[in-house]
Amino acid sequence: MEKITDQLSRRKFLLTASASAIGSVVLKSCASTPTTSSTPTAAGSPAATGSPAANVSGGSGPETTTLRLGYIPIFEAAPLIIAQEKGFFKKYGMTDVKVMKQASWGAARDNVEIGTAGGGIDGGQWQMPMPHLISEGLITKGKTKLPMYVLLQTSTHGNGIAIANKRAAGDISHLGQGIGLDMSKAKGHLEKLKATGTPFTAAYTFPSANQELWLRYWLAAGGINPDEDVKLIVVPAAQTVANMKSGSMDGFSTGDPWPYRILADNIGFMAALTADIWPNHPEEYLAIRADWVDKNPNATKAVLKAVMEAQQWCDDAANLPELAKILSGREFLNVADSILLPPLQGKYDMGDGKAAVSDRMKGPLYWKDGKGSVSYPYKSHDMWFLAENIRWGMIPDTTDIKAIVDKVNREDIWKEAAKSLGVTDIPKETSRGVETFFDGTKFDSNDTTAYLKGLKVKKVKI
Ligand code: CA
Repeated sequence: MEKITDQLSRRKFLLTASASAIGSVVLKSCASTPTTSSTPTAAGSPAATGSPAANVSGGSGPETTTLRLGYIPIFEAAPLIIAQEKGFFKKYGMTDVKVMKQASWGAARDNVEIGTAGGGIDGGQWQMPMPHLISEGLITKGKTKLPMYVLLQTSTHGNGIAIANKRAAGDISHLGQGIGLDMSKAKGHLEKLKATGTPFTAAYTFPSANQELWLRYWLAAGGINPDEDVKLIVVPAAQTVANMKSGSMDGFSTGDPWPYRILADNIGFMAALTADIWPNHPEEYLAIRADWVDKNPNATKAVLKAVMEAQQWCDDAANLPELAKILSGREFLNVADSILLPPLQGKYDMGDGKAAVSDRMKGPLYWKDGKGSVSYPYKSHDMWFLAENIRWGMIPDTTDIKAIVDKVNREDIWKEAAKSLGVTDIPKETSRGVETFFDGTKFDSNDTTAYLKGLKVKKVKI
């Protein structure tokens, strides 16, 4: 299925005007290497210090200075891009780190399997639970297990579900049909579409991960069965706007700035922000191949310190215009900074008669959110993503998800790096506690069975 949609998307890519936005996508062998590299500024600039790595990493320099990290051109990648562009990798002795744009999540998966030695990547930005599924050989070629470590959360929020104003075929309007956070109000509209043989079609960017899970959670909370009442398809993030424009897709879930583009281009509206579906929810993560991390423990900590510093930089409101400017670069998101800045500031026009949102805490956050650390990778959050995979029959309900999380999640390395960086408020528990969703559902990672039992709409029989 993934292959077919990739082909379809590629065809659309050739046909649409937005092609230029995707034109800069680079494949595995040609890195997105900005020739002017870092833009260190003024005094105290990271790169200007030139201090030997041994000094900044506490007497033990990195085993290697080379690392290749993949990223997808959405806000979640900002800490990786900023760590490179503002010279934070260099500051911690990692003088040869390159962030490399990936054509799709599938391409990122393929490239991490190849590894840097083969012209691929060592790790990078991931939706969840991709690192766990790769580690278990569930989404790799030939089902080969490729152990990976989850090391840090790059960001929270900054995602939304966008809906087309209308569908090209059949002259169907989605405006004024009750499509919003509470989808029970749109049930009649979706039932009508299903009855005509053309069910509501929504897209996500990679199967079994964040975007599909947000869509499914949102629909199911409104009493809509995502496997029976609608059609879900895969479309790479950068092509979502084009596909919506062509009228071939009713809605999609993806990272900013793509949902916002829908409004800016006047082709649709926002149904919901993921910040409303699950306030302070986990979003995307930095994960690297376990063989690289095991071989290069000091380099790993140096990388983490660089990304942590970048996250703090990204969360400083004073830096947002510069962040938008850097991300707007052709080699990165390749979207005007005037489009990027409002969502970075938590400003969202929702459309379809909904009140606009202007709340910084609902935009993407990189270091701190309403509940504390964004950067720290809570094991309880990994557990939710895997529990949802069980919920929808993506992995067997007999899967020992706790054992997988204990193997893949290396919050211990995050803590060591944070301590060495001088971070004082380090989470004490690997669980953030009981989580509450917009519909009142609660998730306790210590009892995923109770969570699954309590859900009304699901595929798993429990
Ligand atoms: Ca995302």
